[in-house]
Amino acid sequence: MKKYVYFFGSRKTDGKAEMKNLLGGKGANLAEMSRLGIPVPAGFTITTDCCNDYFANRARFPEGMKEQVKKALKLVEEEMGMRFGDRDNSLLLSSRSGARSSMPGMMETVLNIGLCSKTIPGLIKKTGNERFVFDSYRRLITMYSDVVMEKAEGIEPEEGKGIRVQLEAIMDGLKRSKGYKNDTDLKVEDLKYLCDEYKKKVMEVLDRPFPDDPMGQLWGSIGAVFKSWNGKRAVAYRRIEGIPDTWGTAVNVQAMVFGNMGDSSATGVAFTRNPATGDKRFYGEWLPNAQGEDVVAGIRTPNPINEATKNEQNMHLPSLEKAMPGLYRQLHDIQRRLERHYRDMQDIEFTIQEGKLYMLQTRIGKRTGTAALNMAMDMLKEGLISEPIAVMRLKPEQLDELLHPIVDPRAEKTATIIARGLPAGPGGASGHIVFRAEDAVEWEKNGKKVILVREETNPEDVAGMRAAEGILTARGGMTSHAALVARGWGKCCIVGAGAIHVDPVDGKMTVDGKTYKEGDILTLNGTKGYVYEGRIGMIDATENPRFQNFMKLVDKYRKLGVRANADTPADAATARNFGAEGIGLFRTEHMFYGENSEKPLFLLRQMILSNTVEERKSALDKLFSYVKGDIKATLKVMQGLPVTIRLLDPPLHEFVPQEEVQQKELADSLGIDVKEIVIRGELLHELNPMMGHRGVRLGITYPEVSEMQIRAIFEAAAELIKEKTKAIPEIMIPVTCDVNELKEQDKIIKRIYKEVLSKFNLRKIDYKMGTMIEIPRACLLADEMAEEAEFFSFGTNDLTQMGFGFSRDDIGGFLGAYLEKKILKADPFQTIDQEGIGQLIEMAITKGRSTRKDLKVGICGEQGGDPASVKFCYKAGLTYVSCSPYRVPIARLAAAHATIEASSGKKKAAKKKKR
Ligand code: PEP
Ligand code: MG
Repeated sequence: MKKYVYFFGSRKTDGKAEMKNLLGGKGANLAEMSRLGIPVPAGFTITTDCCNDYFANRARFPEGMKEQVKKALKLVEEEMGMRFGDRDNSLLLSSRSGARSSMPGMMETVLNIGLCSKTIPGLIKKTGNERFVFDSYRRLITMYSDVVMEKAEGIEPEEGKGIRVQLEAIMDGLKRSKGYKNDTDLKVEDLKYLCDEYKKKVMEVLDRPFPDDPMGQLWGSIGAVFKSWNGKRAVAYRRIEGIPDTWGTAVNVQAMVFGNMGDSSATGVAFTRNPATGDKRFYGEWLPNAQGEDVVAGIRTPNPINEATKNEQNMHLPSLEKAMPGLYRQLHDIQRRLERHYRDMQDIEFTIQEGKLYMLQTRIGKRTGTAALNMAMDMLKEGLISEPIAVMRLKPEQLDELLHPIVDPRAEKTATIIARGLPAGPGGASGHIVFRAEDAVEWEKNGKKVILVREETNPEDVAGMRAAEGILTARGGMTSHAALVARGWGKCCIVGAGAIHVDPVDGKMTVDGKTYKEGDILTLNGTKGYVYEGRIGMIDATENPRFQNFMKLVDKYRKLGVRANADTPADAATARNFGAEGIGLFRTEHMFYGENSEKPLFLLRQMILSNTVEERKSALDKLFSYVKGDIKATLKVMQGLPVTIRLLDPPLHEFVPQEEVQQKELADSLGIDVKEIVIRGELLHELNPMMGHRGVRLGITYPEVSEMQIRAIFEAAAELIKEKTKAIPEIMIPVTCDVNELKEQDKIIKRIYKEVLSKFNLRKIDYKMGTMIEIPRACLLADEMAEEAEFFSFGTNDLTQMGFGFSRDDIGGFLGAYLEKKILKADPFQTIDQEGIGQLIEMAITKGRSTRKDLKVGICGEQGGDPASVKFCYKAGLTYVSCSPYRVPIARLAAAHATIEASSGKKKAAKKKKR
């Protein structure tokens, strides 16, 4: 019989921290805390394996599981000295989800299980606290009817018609009629009345009575938590985070302890260091006389945990440190112990029941990129972690956030703050206001940047939060679910901006009497928690010495080279600043687009429209100095680092104007008839331009075009050498499929090389000749290609296009369906398809190095900056990856991770062998 249930308690504990996959993060850590002797209410974890078996068994508990639950429940009863469902001494239980990696707020929880007509009177007698019992009961009815009776049954009510909303409306109505401000103002009679009304409403809406039997409530809750694994928001979150559906969730059933038993009770959420900034200070929020959900659901703005971390918004609220100093000290000791034990920042939940502290959870805390960087460097200095671990502590994706813009402090000085909130996610964001998550998704699809403004933080909004540039809420605290999620993604986010009144129905918000409509523009400073009207400029946040030191460490552990794709001196300079060790792709054609391109573009067009070789040569002669100048400027910036310059690649028709007005203009300036341009455009037009007359095919048909470019490259290098600046050009031939193409072009290269050496009276120019590998045939014949080419660079944009037969420009039409139906795991144009295209790459490397041992191999397709692809490239034995300048640090970090992971994998394997 499979073991489905793992008990944890002070006398005996089955699980431990290493068993995350089976027990989920929460279950494994509850077991670990119990082992460490930290006060944890007893309970048991039902495994993720059981969740999978439950679904395989058509949503029925697998054989033997119920008996195991009953046995474990006995142990809980023994340890807590109470019995579940007992008339006089009733134990109450919670049932919480807990997946392998944390999915904050994405699945369900039911608290206070076991309250019913049989147990309520005894509990009132025992606690002498009738208010507490009915407060707990109304919470049970709310959660249970929502989670078990509605969501788990697959009922999808219209917006605003869900049972939870309807029950909360009854409570709000009562509070309003009695003039209460807070939930805590509700009296015993009010709560009793609410419980009765709630039950009536449940019957009316869901057509079933609220269950009055403790065991029934328990089974219902366990099943519902399993089902919440397949709930809408959990599924959406998994898609975004790339969490496999097969992991399943564990269920943690645990003895309830109560933070809502009166003023000597409390509950809170805290972090061993500040999750937004990384500051080494115990940081958190708490509420007296409350249950955990009150803190995280953003219903009340919670109190600060200690004096040192108070901020402008909660300055006036009491800290736990002052209100309950003894318990605060105990909590402080526990959090330090936990951080030392796990050697990482912990996110903890605690409850104080009538003066006694219990820990309900500890887990690795989510953090912003800034916080991750600061914590890694601090913990390294403190000797808590090693260098490789410090490097591993920052995810490559998180670096992106450090490289993201912040609100320009100078412009900010003169801007007017319209509201202040809690700085939940750092950086700056400007965008159009939207009030609904669906709208955020829609607007973003249409290329608009949006700020999602909500009354309170709500995990249902996850897709909209993802799509938004920034998130702003009127209520909620730093530990609210939405704040956790936003922080995990490095999103700019402000919560609890109390001055804002949101009216999503009418699509507006008011602040101090002023109304803002959907579409109006706001700017958020998520680092400070300030909200501004209108748009404010942003600046880069890279000149941080901490960042520089971290990147030095990264380079110490990195073996794979990192270059950049850059086509202008400015991009090349940015790339060098970000640590690029060369340029892996200089696309010559970019000089014909954008700023200052008028003249060279005109000459290129003249060349394209020439009728004879002589005419073409004359146009090329004029173009030459532009091409040379362009290449020279970039070579100069790179100061002797290799620069891979690709010969002209795109099909020529791309440069012939399509619009009538432009065609007329060009005809006038060339002194020819506009008809000629139209005809030439039509002649050049191809049905399948990406498979047409492009790349090396241009060089084969118009050798003089290659010749001009090659001469420009060598002369640019020669001039620099004469000026005492090092220059290492690498000439790259694109879109090749046969070694004879390379031979043909190499003849030109060798000839021009000699001519330039003699013209400049030089003995040599350090250069290389190589090819892009973008066509499957080139992979198959890579051994022959390598006999000519000194280097390969995988153009994985085209290689993916031609390997899959998917057009790189039009994949949008069906990609969504392919991902949705799980035909493909990911967009192969963003991350290398390791299974298929990966094989072509591996084969080409092996074959290539069979004829040229020292063959240098790079990648310059878009995937070169994608962390998973970078790791693949390391394993496949590439020499370097090349990506856009802003992704260079990300690629460097991913490359360091690849080396560290490979060496720790080796160590593990060696250990296993020894055993
Ligand atoms: C490629 O095909 O991967 C590549 C880098 O070339 P381009 O995107 O310019 O076709
Ligand atoms: Mg290409």
